[in-house]
Amino acid sequence: MLISFEGIDGSGKTTQARLLAEALRAEGRDVLLTREPGGSPGAEEIRRLLVEGAGERWSPETECLLFTAARRDHLERSIRPALAQGRVVITDRFADSTRVYQGAARGDLRQIVDSLHALMIGIEPDRTFVIDINPATGLSRGNARGGSEDRFESLGLQFQERLALGFRALAAECPGRVALIDGSGTANEVASRVRAAL
Ligand code: ATP
Ligand code: C5P
Ligand code: MG
Repeated sequence: MLISFEGIDGSGKTTQARLLAEALRAEGRDVLLTREPGGSPGAEEIRRLLVEGAGERWSPETECLLFTAARRDHLERSIRPALAQGRVVITDRFADSTRVYQGAARGDLRQIVDSLHALMIGIEPDRTFVIDINPATGLSRGNARGGSEDRFESLGLQFQERLALGFRALAAECPGRVALIDGSGTANEVASRVRAAL
């Protein structure tokens, strides 16, 4: 089973992915907890190209290609082998992040994103949890985390608001797969909502 966590910057994805992995492991399940961009040695190298460096290093189109290349490696080297062994795979971001960040919020590239996905990735998670929070809360949580290595979070509140709308639209588009989870309250409260939805 493949489960993804999605949402804007600072929404609580990494925290919730870890809490779900811990809960499932406590029930005796074999869980691979992984992340994007990254999740395999090659994809982690591509992550560095994406998140390091100031300013608009890549065009939106090149960025789509790099995220897709990273995902392809992650899929080949980490996700598919784990699924083949019957493990539960929990990934902190997957293709929906590319649909929303590169496909909608950075430009109008959804067709390119969808074509690349169909050509190179081809699978969807069984379940996706979008952690939905107020963008200002996300930014303050992100700042509390001590900033980050990357340029993306410097894009600001307006960008986060476009992302939040994009993730909500995606949840409405795919009601069978994507569950919108209220991300307010404590981490444990949010984790209970995720468990109830799962
Ligand atoms: P990013 O997109 O930057 O990777 P994220 O969505 O993975 O962020 P986390 O790293 O899980 O978010 O959380 C961001 C910060 O907020 C962390 O410092 C984390 O400890 C804290 N945090 C997570 N969940 C909650 C919560 N429910 N209430 C308050 N703080 C939280
Ligand atoms: O989730 P994480 O913090 O690890 O993501 C690293 C950075 O990459 C974030 O700042 C996020 O905004 C950015 N990102 C992106 N497009 C994606 C996925 C992540 O711009 N498809
Ligand atoms: Mg995170």
